Order: sequence, then structure tokens, then C-alpha cells
Amino acid sequence: MGGGGTGAALAWDLSLRGLSVVLVEKGEFTSGTTGRHHGQLHSGARYAVRDRAIARECMEETLILSRIVPQAIEYNGGLFLALTDDEADYADAFIPACLESGIPAREVTVAEAGSWEPAISGAAKRAVWVPDGSFDAWRIPASFLSGAASLGARLRNFTEAVAVEVSGGAARAVIVRSPDHIEETIQCDYVVNAGGAWAGKIGAMAGLDIPVTPAPGAMVAVKARLSDMVLSRLAPPGDGDIVVPQRGLSIIGSTQRRADEPEGVLPTPEEIAFLLSRADELVPGFSRAPLHAAWAAARPLAGRAISDEEGRAISRDFAILGHGPEGVRNMITLLGGKATVLRAMAERAADRVCAELGIAEPCRTRDTVLPSWRGMSVGAPTGKAAG
Ligand SMILES: Cc1cc2nc3c(=O)[nH]c(=O)nc-3n(C[C@H](O)[C@H](O)[C@H](O)COP(=O)(O)OP(=O)(O)OC[C@H]3O[C@@H](n4cnc5c(N)ncnc54)[C@H](O)[C@@H]3O)c2cc1C
Repeated sequence: MGGGGTGAALAWDLSLRGLSVVLVEKGEFTSGTTGRHHGQLHSGARYAVRDRAIARECMEETLILSRIVPQAIEYNGGLFLALTDDEADYADAFIPACLESGIPAREVTVAEAGSWEPAISGAAKRAVWVPDGSFDAWRIPASFLSGAASLGARLRNFTEAVAVEVSGGAARAVIVRSPDHIEETIQCDYVVNAGGAWAGKIGAMAGLDIPVTPAPGAMVAVKARLSDMVLSRLAPPGDGDIVVPQRGLSIIGSTQRRADEPEGVLPTPEEIAFLLSRADELVPGFSRAPLHAAWAAARPLAGRAISDEEGRAISRDFAILGHGPEGVRNMITLLGGKATVLRAMAERAADRVCAELGIAEPCRTRDTVLPSWRGMSVGAPTGKAAG
């Protein structure tokens, strides 16, 4: 349940292992958080000082994605820039942390960085190159969906899960509703809740209490490609510290607050003003470029927070929650993480599904090149027999 990047990657992995898969998505595929993020392909450098394991996983996944879905990626590199003395000092912890995480970070002179990216601030004190990149937020999941459909997975967009039938300690079926309000029962041997920031609502359908916090973040795009590389502040992860090129646009992000409801989150005027002023620090004149859009998306943080501060303390790692102890032995929830590591999230979840179903098929998603995203047409319900 849930046709974002997580559900799409899982449908692909399980289909490759020979399982019969149905993926239901209440709206258009990727219409949740997946279709709204900046599209930074994280080398992991951003996380390296705080969490080497997350950083290492990001680095490994960027290499895998650039092999299996190259048409969706711009692997142009990234620059971390120090604009203050504190940020300049942070480089001394940042570079070794990246190297220990397998990320080939290297300091370059500010002059060299400026020759690559003339738009960066002249106030930069230090610069570090890392193998960041950008990717198309829609094309990677669409490639997973295209692959799953080619193997017979039934992909049901505009199909909302409205109930989970549980009896004898197991989920027996998912009741779904189509846009014309027709309900249908889908029998199942195993259920995965891949509802992202909506995972709590989906869990409640099976009587489960899922610890998830929707944490909206805002982004602003201007109509100018101001850099080819991803530009970041050389500092611990914070707000308004990344500029990502996306085709002819530049996106500054993001912010983070918590919300009770993931649906319809919007950026506030204060967030937009803050982001533009932060962007101007990294790339002077950013805010003078014509505005393209400002929007927000809800992070599915894997944990419970009642304040913005608590939300920030929750790890950006992903979690696989088994629900056997709560009386639903054949259901898991897969949430958290980042779009960069969706394939790895799906691998771990599919390993668990297969182990519990007694299926000994190995994961093949590391090496199987995905078909083009063009195989995935969107915009209309795909109907019962799609794929
Ligand atoms: C501001 C921001 C910036 C980010 N930037 C980056 C970045 O640059 N790089 C990166 O790697 N990651 C980034 N991320 C993280 C990334 O966006 C998420 O990790 C990822 O998109 C989560 O995917 P998902 O499939 O788990 O969730 P979603 O994409 O939200 O998918 C869940 C789906 O479940 C569906 N659903 C809900 N209820 C039901 C139901 N009852 N029945 C059927 N379907 C249902 C929803 O409609 C939704 O489509 C960012 C996140 C945010 C918030």
C-alpha cells in the first residue's frame, strides 16, 4: 500500500523474485512526498559527521543507481562551501568523516570551485568537492514501476486502501476503493505498508499504532540554472542549506517542522522568505531570478515527535516494523529513509517478506538495469489488469 518511491522499488524487487504483486496508490503514483522532493542524489556527505553508516549506504546506492537507472541521473558532483569561520573549521571534521564513509571528498581551492561554478558566493572561505548529483524525482520510481509492470505486477493508481481484514492473527485482505467509489477486496498472503507520512493512517486500518511523524519541509525553485553542481553549506545539516539544479531550475531547500496531517502541506510565507535569503548567501542574486514555484512535502520520519525539536532528533535512517507482536504476523511497515536509498530499503523489506513466506529467491535489483521510465504512462487510472 502506497505508490511512492518506496512502494515502487518494493514492487520491482518482489516481482523480480517471482512474487505476485499488487500495488495500490490512492492518487497518482509519486503524488505523495516522492514527487515533491529536491531530487538530490545524496553521496552521503551531508550525513557523514553524524552517522557514517547512513553516509556509506548513500554512497553505495548512488553508484548502484547510476548503473541501473542512468537515464534519470545527473551525476555532476557537489560542492560544500564554508561561508563563516565556524563552517571553515567544520571542514576538518567533515573531510575525514566522508573518507571514513567511503565518500571520496577532497578540498579544492575557492578559486577552483569558482571556476567550476561562477555563481557561488565570493565570500566562500573553503570548498570541498563530493560526488553528489541530482536525479529526477519521478523518473526513478517510474522506472521501478515500469520494471514491475513488465513482470506482471498489477499497479493500481487512484485506488485507495480503506480497510485491512485481519483474522486469526494475520491480514487476509485489503479493501480498496476506486475513484468511482466501487469497493473491491484484494486477497493477500502478505501486506506491506509503504504509506510514507500516511503510514500511521494505513496502520490504523489493521488496528496498529505506527510511530511515524509527518515532518513537512518547504522548497523554492527559480527559473534559472545557476549551477550544474549541487551546492551545500559546509555545516551540520540544517535549514536552507542546499541548492539543487533540476534541468533549467535551481531549487533551494529545505525546512522542517512537524505536522499532524501530511495531506496538502503548503510552504508558509516566512519559510519562502527564509529560504530565498539563505539561497542568496550561497548564490548571490538567487532571489532575483524569476520565481518558478514554492511547495512543501511531508517527510515520513520513523519515530514519534510532539515538537519540531523532537522531530529533528529522529534519525533519517529507515525502519522496517514487524507487526506480529501486535497481532498481524504477515504485515510490515517500511518507512523513513531518503529517495536516494529507496532501492536498499526495498531490498531489506523484500528479504524479510521472502524469509517469512519461505521463499529463497535472492535480491537482483543491484545489478538488473531498469527499463526506461517511458514504459510507465501516468495520468489515468490503470484499471484492474494494468501491466
Ligand atoms: C522537503 C523534502 C526534501 C527531500 N529531499 C530529498 C532529496 O533531495 N533527496 C532524497 O534522496 N530524498 C529527499 N527527501 C526524502 C524523500 O522524499 C522520501 O524519503 C521519499 O520520497 C519517501 O517515499 P515514500 O514512498 O516512502 O513516501 P511517499 O512518496 O509519500 O509515498 C506514500 C504514498 O502512499 C499513498 N497513500 C497514502 N494513503 C494511502 C492509502 N490509504 N491507500 C493507498 N495509497 C495511500 C500516498 O498517496 C503516497 O503516494 C526529501 C523529503 C522532503 C520532505
